[in-house]
Amino acid sequence: MTTVEERQPEQHAFEADVSRLLHMMVHSVYSDKDVFLRELISNAADACEKLRYDSISQPGLSTDGIPPGILVTLNEEARTLVVEDNGIGMTRNEMIDALGTIARSGTKAFMERLDAAKAGEKAELIGQFGVGFYSSFMVADKVDVISRRAGQEEAWKWSSDGKGSYDIVAIDSVEAPTRGTRVVLHLMEDAKRYTDKWTVEKIIRDQSGHVPVPIRLVDKEA
Ligand code: ADP
Ligand code: MG
Repeated sequence: MTTVEERQPEQHAFEADVSRLLHMMVHSVYSDKDVFLRELISNAADACEKLRYDSISQPGLSTDGIPPGILVTLNEEARTLVVEDNGIGMTRNEMIDALGTIARSGTKAFMERLDAAKAGEKAELIGQFGVGFYSSFMVADKVDVISRRAGQEEAWKWSSDGKGSYDIVAIDSVEAPTRGTRVVLHLMEDAKRYTDKWTVEKIIRDQSGHVPVPIRLVDKEA
């Protein structure tokens, strides 16, 4: 058996369209960057809902009785914002499919509109379409996604700086949530306001008030 220390990260190239999209995110001049948080919270809530649904036919998936929840943790010193859920989680292959390709129809439509749009209109399309997970790269220069699929022992870490490729590596069990997904945004210098509790609290209230899963906000410094 290989120990965790011996495991080497595997590098994968993004699908060409994802690279194009990420390039656009990194260089985005879209003014309302707050939308990244709405996207991450909505993914976390979807994951909790999927666990609830799958547990109907596979009760073994969530026997721990822990209620669904989303935790947002801010750390000003480390300049990180973390969104964690205890939902369905992802396997290694699910991460490769979901976070390396343009699988969702909304993003496909976005890319088509983008090609047709004039320079000045491009930024506004981000808000109109909602670009999902990839919008993280408007505010973060590195993103880690640590996940453990419900019912599985192994846990995986996906990391990328949004510049063409991502790494995947198996991680030690203690580094991962018991079940679900932790998304760690290493914020850009000019996005450090997203470590401010009042700023983030207001964004969550304004954008994610309707989310059916409880959201807890924690400030590491406090
Ligand atoms: P969408 O939510 O519209 O499918 P996203 O870009 O927001 O598009 O997310 C892409 C995919 O990544 C999701 O469909 C899901 O499969 C996976 N994913 C993202 N975040 C999570 C999460 N917190 N838990 C489980 N799966 C996730
Ligand atoms: Mg989404």
